[in-house]
Amino acid sequence: MPAQIGVTGLAVMGANLARNFARNGYTVALHNRSVAKTDALLAAHGDEGDFIRTETLEELVANLESPRRVMIMVKAGGPVDSVIDQLVPLLDEGDIIIDGGNSHYTDTRRREAALAEKGLHFVGVGVSGGEEGALLGPSIMPGGSAESYKALGPLLEKISAKADDGTPCCAWISTDGAGHFVKMVHNGIEYADMQVIGEAYDLLRSAAGLEPAAQAEIFSQWNEGELSSFLIEITAEVLGHVDAATGKPLVDVIQDSAGQKGTGRWTVQSGLDMGSPVSAIAESVFARSLSSQREIRAVGQQVLAGETTEVTLPENFVEDVRQALFASKLVSYAQGLDMLTSAAGEYGWELKLDEIAGLWREGCIIRAALLKDIMAAYKGDAQPANLLFTPAFSEAIAKALPAWRRVVAIAVQLGIPAPVFSSSLAYYDGLRRDRLPAALTQGLRDFFGAHTYRRTDKEGTFHTLWSGDRTEIAAEDTH
Ligand code: NDP
Repeated sequence: MPAQIGVTGLAVMGANLARNFARNGYTVALHNRSVAKTDALLAAHGDEGDFIRTETLEELVANLESPRRVMIMVKAGGPVDSVIDQLVPLLDEGDIIIDGGNSHYTDTRRREAALAEKGLHFVGVGVSGGEEGALLGPSIMPGGSAESYKALGPLLEKISAKADDGTPCCAWISTDGAGHFVKMVHNGIEYADMQVIGEAYDLLRSAAGLEPAAQAEIFSQWNEGELSSFLIEITAEVLGHVDAATGKPLVDVIQDSAGQKGTGRWTVQSGLDMGSPVSAIAESVFARSLSSQREIRAVGQQVLAGETTEVTLPENFVEDVRQALFASKLVSYAQGLDMLTSAAGEYGWELKLDEIAGLWREGCIIRAALLKDIMAAYKGDAQPANLLFTPAFSEAIAKALPAWRRVVAIAVQLGIPAPVFSSSLAYYDGLRRDRLPAALTQGLRDFFGAHTYRRTDKEGTFHTLWSGDRTEIAAEDTH
């Protein structure tokens, strides 16, 4: 019997997705550049379903039913292009190449356009949930043509995570690179989500002196309420874990420099390109960069003054921190979703934000109870201009606001860096402010670069003759 899907690239993610397809009743043709990985997978898990072992891409393609579905799970970047180039001559019109790796959406757009000219479908698919998710049910974000989804969607939906109402956490996102774009933003939000958790931990530790074991309890409790999410749950696990070698909390033994593979940085770069203020995500990426500058930080510790102000912590400081965490988290989701709206305009994608929030409910790293409310916020025709403007969230933030301000003030007074807590608050205040100092910025730009300005009291574009008699003239818009 021919296979319904072929998977090439059988490292962690590819192997687990292949197993997931097989466990769900599909026949899966397997291929890896080096045959050893194929054989290792078959030796360990060959009894989980119907697999077809192949040694070459020709063999892989020959074993697939039509239209052929070939999923590429190799290292992102050049290797994906290389595998595509090898596959193209082997495929027929209407066949589908799927890239399930973390490819940059601009690469996906380029590949999709090139393959469409050859009559092939190319589907960039965002897959979230890590190794375990790939095996047990990830959140899946497919782009590509609507037509390709008809042949591919049912398989992806079958292997995806399911929300508690039974809906698959997989839905067609929109054309070309939309799936990879949404996955990228998911990862950007994930960066911010982890950073705000880190800031809460640092404040509870450094300001309130709460040891990791005590904090494990606190995070467990938080996981019962509105913060309930996978990341809060595993924070309790990690903080509660004691290192066997030293008997210390493991978190005290782990070096304090955070790695990154690039999707957070891509999100911020896209935000910069589109003029979309993803400041919480940017601060999270930069916080990781700063953490990695260990040698520079060692010098900083020696030479930089650290005078702080004494503060008396409020009685409910732990609850204050929880609220600051919740409010900052909402801002990072709002910024990420806002960037999706910008991208939809830029690339002509019809992004349904309620559906996207819906497929993040299970399977992915940012899965959280909150996503149900976010889904509800974007249901129907009246799309809020910003997530924070919907009554449910504006009220939630209003409730958290006094605590959020207290926590940011305390962090500043005690010299505890809380870049996302504070920048999210600045974003929030910026959003609700009547007049921003951008008026002065524009005045300065006009002074040194004749960049012109608009007036609040009449239509048109103006320039002041700063180096002349300082009269104002009507001008061409050079904004
Ligand atoms: P890796 O990114 O580590 O890639 C290893 C695989 O790529 C191996 O199968 C390797 O073959 C193959 N490969 C590398 N170069 C080539 C090439 N030039 N030609 C053909 N095959 C090549 O694998 P992962 O499973 O970790 O990730 C796969 C994709 O999924 C990546 O895009 C990753 O970013 C993404 N992803 C990973 C997650 C994770 O948790 N690891 C989570 C979500 C997405 P060989 O065995 O012969 O060397």
